[in-house]
Amino acid sequence: MGVRENLQTVGDRILTAARRAGRDPEKIKIIAVSKQVPVESIKEVLGAGITDLGENRVQEMTSKMDQLPSGLRWHMIGHLQTNKVKYVVGEVALIHSLDRWDLARAIEQRADALNVVVPVLVQVNVSGEKSKFGLRPGELADFLAALQDFRRIKVKGLMTMAPYADDPEEARPFFRELRQLAGRLAVSLPGVSLEHLSMGMTNDFEVAVEEGADLLRLGTAVFGARTY
Ligand SMILES: *Cc1c(COP(=O)(O)O)cnc(C)c1O
Repeated sequence: MGVRENLQTVGDRILTAARRAGRDPEKIKIIAVSKQVPVESIKEVLGAGITDLGENRVQEMTSKMDQLPSGLRWHMIGHLQTNKVKYVVGEVALIHSLDRWDLARAIEQRADALNVVVPVLVQVNVSGEKSKFGLRPGELADFLAALQDFRRIKVKGLMTMAPYADDPEEARPFFRELRQLAGRLAVSLPGVSLEHLSMGMTNDFEVAVEEGADLLRLGTAVFGARTY
């Protein structure tokens, strides 16, 4: 199947899941994860209405930025090294992977130098898997409170990855916990806005929609398997 058919199918599945959950499908956005995908295929999804692209590697992202039209919304979704922050701040619409204090400091410093604000999501390791980045749920309140001193960093929500499982239902408790965390923290930290939940990938996005995701990071479902 071509990417247009893929997008059609994904759109239908999002619509159905949103209806099931009584949610407004208009509020759910597809971020097409274009890692390892050639520029020609990316152009096809842009022609089909995609405006948001996700990349997990800085160098690959900046190279594609140079080859694609300006005005796209780029999302840094992967683990970010502090020495790469200078290539990202001021260039991307949203950083999904703020996961530690020294990264926050580096982002703040760079943003200050450029006189820009940086929208971010804080990545949470809900499952506690050792292989995953992100704050533990219990660390989140203090981290968000401390971030309020960083004038350049605007927290917009939370991001998580569920452990891979054949059965997408296994992701549900992790997505639900992220939503509940955001709800509780919004009450205890009134200055912090946690309106966005970035959760759900190809294998589990319908469950994520049912649990409140509004930013879906979809690679394989949009572009097909990454075999290149
Ligand atoms: C690769 C990647 C995705 C997309 O994965 P698919 O299973 O292909 O949809 C989503 N989020 C992150 C952080 C990724 O690295």
